[in-house]
Amino acid sequence: MLTTLRQIVEKISGEKDLSKALQLVAAKTREALGVDCCSVYVADYIRGRNRLVATDGLNHESAGHVTLKFGEGLVGLVGKKKCILNLANAQEHPNFKYIPEIGEDEFKSFLGVPIIHNDRSLGVLIIQQKESREFNEVEESFLVFLADHLSSILYAAEQKVESEENAEPIKCSFGSGGIAIARGWVWQPHMNLEQVLLKKNNDRETQVELFHQALFQLQLDIDSLTLKMSSNLKNGELTNVFDSYQDIIENSDFSQKVDSKIYDEGWSASSAVKIIAEQMIKDLNTQNKSDAAADIIDLARRLLSRLAHSYLEEFAFSEPVILLAEEITASLIAELPRERVAGIISLKGNATSLAAILARNLNIPTLMGVDLAIDKLDRHLFILDGNRQELFIDPPVGVITEYRGNILRDEENTRLFIAEQNDPAVTQDGVKVNVELNAGLNFDKDSESVLSMIDGVGLYRTEVEFMMHNTFPTELEECVHYEEFLKNFSSTRVRMRTMDVGGDKPLPYMPLDEANPFLGWRGIRISLDKPDLLKTQFRAMLKANRKYENLEIMLPMISSLEEVLQSRKILDEAYKEICEEYSAKIAYPKLGAMIEVPATMFLLEDLAEHLDFFSIGSNDLTQYTLAVDRSNSMVAKLYDCFNPAMVRILWRLYRICVQELECPLAMCGEMAGDPLGAIMLISMGYRELSMNYTEIARIKYVLRRVDTRELAEIFKRAIKLSTTTDIRQMYVDYLKEKGLAEILNIK
Ligand code: PEP
Ligand code: MG
Repeated sequence: MLTTLRQIVEKISGEKDLSKALQLVAAKTREALGVDCCSVYVADYIRGRNRLVATDGLNHESAGHVTLKFGEGLVGLVGKKKCILNLANAQEHPNFKYIPEIGEDEFKSFLGVPIIHNDRSLGVLIIQQKESREFNEVEESFLVFLADHLSSILYAAEQKVESEENAEPIKCSFGSGGIAIARGWVWQPHMNLEQVLLKKNNDRETQVELFHQALFQLQLDIDSLTLKMSSNLKNGELTNVFDSYQDIIENSDFSQKVDSKIYDEGWSASSAVKIIAEQMIKDLNTQNKSDAAADIIDLARRLLSRLAHSYLEEFAFSEPVILLAEEITASLIAELPRERVAGIISLKGNATSLAAILARNLNIPTLMGVDLAIDKLDRHLFILDGNRQELFIDPPVGVITEYRGNILRDEENTRLFIAEQNDPAVTQDGVKVNVELNAGLNFDKDSESVLSMIDGVGLYRTEVEFMMHNTFPTELEECVHYEEFLKNFSSTRVRMRTMDVGGDKPLPYMPLDEANPFLGWRGIRISLDKPDLLKTQFRAMLKANRKYENLEIMLPMISSLEEVLQSRKILDEAYKEICEEYSAKIAYPKLGAMIEVPATMFLLEDLAEHLDFFSIGSNDLTQYTLAVDRSNSMVAKLYDCFNPAMVRILWRLYRICVQELECPLAMCGEMAGDPLGAIMLISMGYRELSMNYTEIARIKYVLRRVDTRELAEIFKRAIKLSTTTDIRQMYVDYLKEKGLAEILNIK
């Protein structure tokens, strides 16, 4: 056996091509041990997955493609625990994961050995057999020896490959355009001890202050948890569960020890908490006090999470950073200092998530739906290309230089767009398109300059104000807020949408626990179930509009005529009350509905009788038509408004609303701010597009260079096509023909 092993090692050492070497390992091991299958998985730390790279016995084609998340399947277990797993019946193990395409159905026994270098798992070496049996010691030793040899080969390859591989970008989903080159900073609201990377911080005073603030906040949390528990429990017995926590905070020397780690040794607050907590846990475990150790673990976790919220500590960088998080929320973006955020990477969500919309408003290059193991990426260098939806991690110098050039080119293009931003959006053949503003999100532009760019405010998202409060705002608070906006935009009409929370826009003070939030209690449904809330909102809007008379009201998520009639009734009541309160006849605003739910398509005639206008919310309409969750990155590639079903729906909406019912129809979904989406709408006949501030100049630049007659011809052909790709291509080709594709970064 030893001779065979030596021969295998010699052979693989002589092989320059890593994948060939690993394939050789698989084939030779299978042959030497007379087993039915041998495979090698290699850890990919950037993506957080083990990848099947070589196999002799499994489906060959799956090598290179099949991956398992770290910790997933038997492979994940071996890699994570760094232990040998020898099973006579693998499929009965709770961690077994069935992967149809690799063809391991007939294999019963499994032996997995980790490939470890410097205590880091680099992969897993596996043998499998059809017969159900435990593998013997000789077989185990054989694999352990080979795995040991493989570890140095894989480590050397990792070092070499890293620099070459990093020149290849990772494909992501769109969030917001623009390019950022900066170091990453991982935001983890729920931190574990293992996730804290030890860091020194010389600003010792601040670190101690942050630690004590976090401790104080934690005490408040514990008080409120204790209160909550005592009100939930019938007998008071269990209310002292947090006493041990208080004890640690008040009576142990935990806090002093953390202080001295910061003061004497210069550790950051989080690092000091980690070091001390780990010491205490170790001591308690050796004394067999596992309950007390568990208390320290939980307490430390809560403290670390609190500290992670202390943006001050982490954002005290001299350079802006790229923020990485599992899920970026709109409120997180709103809270962060804009000048410190160069870009955003969110593992969850897609272009129509509120966070992405907000990022576009703030002009922050953003990528959503990124498949990465972010906890390994703190402080790595990133190139985030929001235009091409690509991400580079620790790229080579050549790529950085190229991208610095791209940033300059982007800035030049932006200057071209801005130069014409105040000119009307009149097409080459003289057709005027109304370009309007989607507002309501944090937005620090002065209204005078914005007004000169737009033909109206097509969507004002009132829910953002609700989301920023800790409780429902009062009528007065709402009124002050709306009045300020109506005043700032008094020379144009403003379409305010009633509160549209629910779905991906939860209110912190109204938690909803729903299996399907997007199909649940959201938009007008909440407002009509809480009519006082809706009445208050109408009253605030009407009062705010008294002086300016530029308000129009829009209802979100309408799916029936009853909803419109009930809303109208509440609006009438609010109107009557305000007229009486002011003893004056005030302006009665136009009332319209968003078309977001496919059902409205078949109710247009009925609805139009009671409404003054429609506005399409393509973000939701696409989601509901295609049954694709707009914030689920797993299905992001299916979410496409060029899907023929969507194109036909948009065409039907235009024909019925505009041509038959002569009812004004606008588009205020994200589609309007996308150059391809915008020209597709124009090609059908749409003339009212509402979009985020950052998209206005670019869309106007495009509209001023296209011809509606040519586009109408394109549409005649596009409407007959049956695939998303073909339809999109027609419009891509048109932009190319017009010489616009390059400046818009469209390939
Ligand atoms: C839409 O659904 O297209 C829309 C504009 O509304 P929101 O994105 O706020 O849900
Ligand atoms: Mg919507």
